[in-house]
Amino acid sequence: MVRFLNGGRLIVASHNAGKVKEIRDLLTPFNVCISSAADLSLPEPEENGDCFIANAKIKALAAAKSTNLPALADDSGLGVEALDGAPGIYSARWAGPKKDFAAAMARIEKELGHTDNLSAQFVCALALAWPDGHCESFEGRVTGALTFPARGTKGFGYDPIFIPDGHHVTFAEMEPSAKHTISHRADAFRQLVSACFK
Ligand code: IMP
Repeated sequence: MVRFLNGGRLIVASHNAGKVKEIRDLLTPFNVCISSAADLSLPEPEENGDCFIANAKIKALAAAKSTNLPALADDSGLGVEALDGAPGIYSARWAGPKKDFAAAMARIEKELGHTDNLSAQFVCALALAWPDGHCESFEGRVTGALTFPARGTKGFGYDPIFIPDGHHVTFAEMEPSAKHTISHRADAFRQLVSACFK
């Protein structure tokens, strides 16, 4: 049975400042008081799942158990069709320990070579876990096309090379409020809110 979250404290199980900001923005209308895993210096568990949902559950359950509070985790990434879905769950790792997304975007461009297929999608898995091990999970996506060179300075990660379907600008050229209405994270949040928030 689905479990509801009725306000109160919520841990956002992420050390990624860009993601935490987007999650805070998306949860503004709800009566929750957010702390992030980074604020609390929680350790980052090893993400050894084989899909986005598995990794989101690992992060949410680790944070819920160590804080004794409900915790929300996001595992997300970019899947490029011509690269068989890479970097996918390895999206953060392609940027390396220095989180160098210029290098990660350059690697995608190089691996694509001269292909005409620039189709890609962002995927976002959300897991909401409680200290007793109960966990709800949801997956959202947004499809689009890659563009090179990178364009725009807003957003984070791979935003400067992704143009969502139906638009002519990259996520990094859009206002955050516009990205929040159509993004993979917004799609997953709509599902989370309709299932777990009263
Ligand atoms: P993880 O979920 O923390 O393992 O990392 C996900 C990675 O996917 C991020 O570090 C970004 O590189 C990328 N990513 C996820 N969501 C977005 C987004 O909304 N825009 C741009 N890049 C994203």
